[in-house]
Order: sequence, then C-alpha cells, then structure tokens
Amino acid sequence: MILLKGAPAARKITEELAERSGCFSRRPCIAFVRVGEDPDDLSYERAAQKRMEKAGASYIVRAFEKDVEEAVFLNELKKINDDPETDGVLVFRPLPKNISEAKAAAVMRPEKDLDCMSDLSLAAVFKGAEGFAPCTAEAVLALLKSYDVPLCGKRVVIVGRSLVIGKPAAMLFLQENATVTVCHSKTENLKEICREADVLVAAVGKQEMIDGSYIKEGAAVVDVGIHVKEDGSLCGDCNFESVSEKAAMLSPVPGGVGAVTTAVLADHLFRAYEALSGEKA
Ligand code: NAP
Repeated sequence: MILLKGAPAARKITEELAERSGCFSRRPCIAFVRVGEDPDDLSYERAAQKRMEKAGASYIVRAFEKDVEEAVFLNELKKINDDPETDGVLVFRPLPKNISEAKAAAVMRPEKDLDCMSDLSLAAVFKGAEGFAPCTAEAVLALLKSYDVPLCGKRVVIVGRSLVIGKPAAMLFLQENATVTVCHSKTENLKEICREADVLVAAVGKQEMIDGSYIKEGAAVVDVGIHVKEDGSLCGDCNFESVSEKAAMLSPVPGGVGAVTTAVLADHLFRAYEALSGEKA
C-alpha cells in the first residue's frame, strides 16, 4: 500500500513559492486572526507560520481575548482587511458563540479571504470561478494529484458535507470531472456506497469510524480527520490498520492532508499578493 504523505507535496509547493517570493518588491503578508487560545488553533498557527517563513512570506498575528465584544472584533477585522500591508487574512474558526460567523464573513474582502469564509468566496467555488477554496478541501485534491491519482471519470465518495470540507471538496472534484457522491449522517447504506468509491474522502469527524469494510479493494483513501487519542497520539477518521488492508493508497494522520493544508494557504496568499499588487513572478 502506498502512503499518501503530505510532506513531499507541501515541500514542492513551498519551494515554488520561495522562488516566486524573490521576484516581489516585498514579502506577501498574511494576518492570522485568532480569538482565544484553543490548542488546535495554536498548533495550526505555529505550523502555518513555519510554512510562511519557508515560502518567503511574512505574517502578523491579531489575537483577541475569548470574551471580546462582537462589535470590537468586527471593527478590528475590518481594519485588518483594509490594511494595504496585509495581502491575506485567515480567521480561526469556529469563532466563540458571542461572535456571529456570518457577520465576520461579511466583513472579509473576497480578494484577501484565503480560507473561503465569505459567501462570495464560496459562490466562486461552486461556480468554478476564480477565488480561494477552503484550504483543507483544496489540500485533499492537491495531495491526490501529487501522487497522480486519476480523478477524471472516477467515482469519488466523500463522507461529510460541511461547508469547509465536504461540500467544497465535492465541487473541486466535479471540476476534475469525477463522479461525486456526498454522504452524511442520514445516508442510508453508507458502507455500500463507500465500497463503490475509487477515491474515498473521510471527513466525518468521528474517530477511526471508517474501517476496511467501507473500502473497495484498491481504492485511494484520503483521511481528513484529526483526533487526539486517550494516550495523546493522533489518529484520523479512518482505522489505519483495517483500511490499509484493502486500500491501494491511504493518507496517514498525522502527515497526510494536514501537511498540505498550510502549503495551500501559502499558495493562496501568493495569489492574493499578485492580484492586489499587480506584480507577477
Ligand atoms: P463537521 O462539520 O463535524 O462535519 C462532519 C460531517 O460528517 C457532517 O456532514 C456529518 O453529517 C457527517 N457525519 C457525522 N457522523 C456521520 C456518520 N456516522 N455517518 C456519516 N456521516 C456522518 O466536520 P468538518 O469540519 O468537516 O471536519 C471533518 C474532520 O476533518 C474532523 O475530524 C476535523 O477535525 C478534520 N479537519 C481536518 C483538517 C485538516 O487540515 N486535516 C482541517 C479541518 C478539519 P451531517 O451533516 O448530517 O451532520
């Protein structure tokens, strides 16, 4: 079985960006906007900062107290979006309950909306127009493409229909001419449907739920899930041992999709910089 490791794909994207960075009049700059100190957010922020450094980009961090007032946050988010020194913005989600994500999304300028928060950005993904797809959804496809997994005409099954992963990933697979089925918690005969997949994407958010009984012999499986086990180790939505007995390809957790996500984020930042500055590497 081939391990779909994210590091080689992430490295390739990053090296290409680092070369482009040398042609710009200044480093592209991303603003990380975080409310509170959620450990998952902090861990992603550290990984993304390292990626930006390697790619030749810079970053600022705007961290707010967990109980920041909605009006204050939205006002600051608007200022960050309007800052000409900032080329892209990443808001860590979910936001605390006292801040409306819809209102925050409405403040985001689509040209700086690197992780597809605003309705306009989402609409672009669904229309197949220019724009930034959610980084994790795009990373799923980037990972498969980096291993030359055929998608055109293939049966892709996605387990999960969230707006950040399942639904946009379905649109991206359609753009690759795959035949896409999206499953969710009300899907009947889930196992049977999954067993028809040439490519199975597990974005279900349930620790190790997908085992070998969901897999067609020889399928390529991308595990998007991230969970911390009782012993502190990480695992995904797939039971690795069981799935690897059937699948021809499987992305590990950690070291699979997550590694590519920060590289896609950096790629979006560079594209935003080029569009805003008019400079082209
Ligand atoms: P989410 O918003 O919780 O969505 C989960 C989806 O799975 C929902 O559509 C839900 O269906 C469906 N589902 C839940 N239980 C199911 C079941 N028993 N059978 C079939 N479908 C079921 O999760 P998410 O934000 O999309 O994230 C999915 C996973 O990816 C999580 O483990 C998360 O930690 C991980 N993640 C990874 C990255 C990365 O960079 N690798 C980034 C973000 C998230 P309903 O719609 O019917 O409720």
